[in-house]
Amino acid sequence: MQAGSEDERVLIAGGGPTGMAAAMFLASQGVPVTLLERGKGPHDDPRAATYHPPSLEMLEPSGVTDELHRRGIVARKWQYRDRREGLVAEFDLQVLEGDTRYPYRLQCEQHKLVAMMQKRVAASPFATIRQDAEVVEVAQDVAGVSVVVRDAAGAHATLRGRWLVGADGGRSVVRKSQDIGFEGFTWPERFLVVTTTFDFEPLGFAYSNYTMDPVEWTATFKVPGEDERGIWRCVFPTRPEEGEAELLDFARAADRLAGFVPQSRAAKVIHTNLYAVHQRVATTYRRGRVLLAGDAAHVNNPLGGMGLNFGLHDAHSLAQRLGKVWRGEAPDSLLDQYDRQRRAVAEQYLQGQTIANKQTLEERDPVKRAERQAEMRAQAADPARARRFLLRTAMIEGLAAAAAIA
Ligand SMILES: Cc1cc2nc3c(=O)[nH]c(=O)nc-3n(C[C@H](O)[C@H](O)[C@H](O)COP(=O)(O)OP(=O)(O)OC[C@H]3O[C@@H](n4cnc5c(N)ncnc54)[C@H](O)[C@@H]3O)c2cc1C
Repeated sequence: MQAGSEDERVLIAGGGPTGMAAAMFLASQGVPVTLLERGKGPHDDPRAATYHPPSLEMLEPSGVTDELHRRGIVARKWQYRDRREGLVAEFDLQVLEGDTRYPYRLQCEQHKLVAMMQKRVAASPFATIRQDAEVVEVAQDVAGVSVVVRDAAGAHATLRGRWLVGADGGRSVVRKSQDIGFEGFTWPERFLVVTTTFDFEPLGFAYSNYTMDPVEWTATFKVPGEDERGIWRCVFPTRPEEGEAELLDFARAADRLAGFVPQSRAAKVIHTNLYAVHQRVATTYRRGRVLLAGDAAHVNNPLGGMGLNFGLHDAHSLAQRLGKVWRGEAPDSLLDQYDRQRRAVAEQYLQGQTIANKQTLEERDPVKRAERQAEMRAQAADPARARRFLLRTAMIEGLAAAAAIA
């Protein structure tokens, strides 16, 4: 028997990185949680893979940060490059050594992170994980929430809890059930991710790189891969008129890669993945007993590797507050502060930074591109300026800004 009676539990819709982190952070405080996941395990298609310093700090008490260090790749430096000119500027996160215990990015596939957290949630006496449980309906009243779940065979069941966290991704049923808007826009182009055995390191690439080009920019980074010997992922923009089948075709992907780096011709393409890219933020993160976090609350382009990290930061902020409210130590207005803090920084930092990152990479005006590159070189060469820039891009500044919101 799990701790906590059924109707006092916190229900969590979605067992991706955000939902699993929320479950782990709540269960570690002794708050009973039931996590409802539509699938049968973590999605193992290539998604996010970069963890910034604050995320590593938040995951530290659970032991997940240690495990990520054992299985992931430490990327102390990252580069801006130009497709024709090569290296523009290299930033060394070591300048943040006075600001964080983890002055680097850690790169490890998202499904491995989810599995690490899931192991801990499953081991907690305060947590229950229900897989093959798709949330299809949500209702709330003054005392709690009622959630209807459906399994793959079509059988329905109703669960009762005190609070519901909607961490069910960009198409969130929880968000829609509460009539919460999701404002913003969708980019016309989809992004193509090509995973290859080609090793970019001997060419002078860092483990994380952003290559500017007015026609075809590229983000390139190294991840451990299933055998943990290291593979590389390249993200490319595509033209709206290009068809899905041709974009995903391995031979064409190899051509695209060779257009970027001719030396890659002999290497193998091992995966291709295409996805639509949006910039949207929910109009509120709280409706009564229903709270939103992660992609259910905000979606953005992957340049800068911020989306998943932001979801972890949401989960951390929400779990601290929900724990206090659940134990009766704080009024539920503390959850309105969660909405104010996290939504403000999603708009200002997450949207602002990721849109700026994309615009930098695709800049078409040669004068502006040259100016931007000169600025990057100057920033990288001056430790004080580099630190200010890296505090923002490593997501430390956004957290401080959130904490300053009353
Ligand atoms: C194809 C793809 C590629 C991506 N690539 C990158 C990348 O390269 N870099 C980057 O930074 N970010 C990338 N992202 C974004 C990143 O993966 C997300 O920001 C991150 O997964 C957000 O985590 P989350 O837990 O909030 O949502 P999700 O990871 O979407 O998890 C939501 C979970 O909820 C479950 N679920 C959904 N609906 C229901 C329901 N009704 N009932 C129960 N369970 C439900 C889903 O099965 C899923 O497990 C990518 C996303 C996608 C989809």
